[in-house]
Amino acid sequence: MMRDDFKQSTINLLANRVGWKCSNPGCRRTTRGAGTESTDVINIGVAAHITAAAKGGPRYDNNMTSQERRSYENGIWLCQSCSKLIDSDVQRYSVDKLKKWKEISEQMAVLELETGTEGGYTTDREIIKFLVCCFDRPAFRDPICQEGRMEDFDKAIEDTIIALNTGILRTRDGNILRKSEGKSAISNDEWREKLNVIGDMLSALRRRLKIAKAAGAYSTYGEGEVMYCFSDRQLGEWFDSTREEILKILSSICEDMGMSGLRFPRNKYRW
Ligand SMILES: [Zn+2]
Repeated sequence: MMRDDFKQSTINLLANRVGWKCSNPGCRRTTRGAGTESTDVINIGVAAHITAAAKGGPRYDNNMTSQERRSYENGIWLCQSCSKLIDSDVQRYSVDKLKKWKEISEQMAVLELETGTEGGYTTDREIIKFLVCCFDRPAFRDPICQEGRMEDFDKAIEDTIIALNTGILRTRDGNILRKSEGKSAISNDEWREKLNVIGDMLSALRRRLKIAKAAGAYSTYGEGEVMYCFSDRQLGEWFDSTREEILKILSSICEDMGMSGLRFPRNKYRW
């Protein structure tokens, strides 16, 4: 069978442009190092095809020419285990996703060159992990109509905004629970922009709640343990879908990083 293999110069270019590290942003494993003999180099990297080199292979694209299939554009540098991973589930590891990985990894390699550190990525990953923890709370899980006290809900959203901006998550009694960096420390432009959008949406939730209160969109009943009744159904749905949208955006960042760190289901707010 005919295979459109890469030329050695293309393989070297793919590896060099990502600093000889695996291009899965969640992996970034170093793929070469010294072997036993003084002249030996160990290489565990693979120049993988984004769309397969031969008919019937993963993500094979019939519309591409041989030349396109063996071009730099169609390759991605990966470690051996990630190269197996991407072929095991072509739905999950689509052409678009692999191209995104490659782009991110090349950006990271340049950033590491410019800053002289390899910390850029670790930091991004750590901040995102911290934020996933911040959003893993009842205020993002329960439908608004099941919310106990609106004041508590409002406070939870406010705390999340503070965590997003400063990297500090506080407990209800004001103690600092965890500390990271704020979203402005994220080095990846696209992820930072997504977090900015999340910040805007969180602020919108708080502003809208204030208006809802003034307009009497929810009422309270009971004594002692006061209950809240959300009478404006459409508005209630807006609160629920806006929070779902926030989680979706956060999930998409996790997916870009190859992280499965989101513990809450994404389609929680179906009705
Ligand atoms: Zn890898």
